Amino acid sequence: MAEKKEVTGAEVPCTVVLDLLPLFIESELTPEAAAVVQAHLDHCPDCRDVYELGRRDPTALSRRVLRLRFGPSEGPFALQKDLFKLRRRLWLWAVAGGFAAGLVAAVLWKVAVAL
Ligand SMILES: [Zn+2]
Repeated sequence: MAEKKEVTGAEVPCTVVLDLLPLFIESELTPEAAAVVQAHLDHCPDCRDVYELGRRDPTALSRRVLRLRFGPSEGPFALQKDLFKLRRRLWLWAVAGGFAAGLVAAVLWKVAVAL
């Protein structure tokens, strides 16, 4: 992210611009949205890089490829870093919770069978 300028695109997070890039390249955005993306590209070298990449090879715009290219905590994905951590933690809790619930159910079932 470069310094903030008096441009609407500067207020838009990179992740949003990356989501819009495929449509931007296909010229399927509304003029307003396209202007915002263009303004962002004008000041953000990270997204401009991805844009050039996507213009040459649209398949390079898939999230998976971008993540391999930048890593989950670099470039346009820096903003999502905390979200990734949070998601992983939630996932771990869900697994642990499911395991505990299964254990309790197993014990209850054994008790019920023993009675
Ligand atoms: Zn950007």
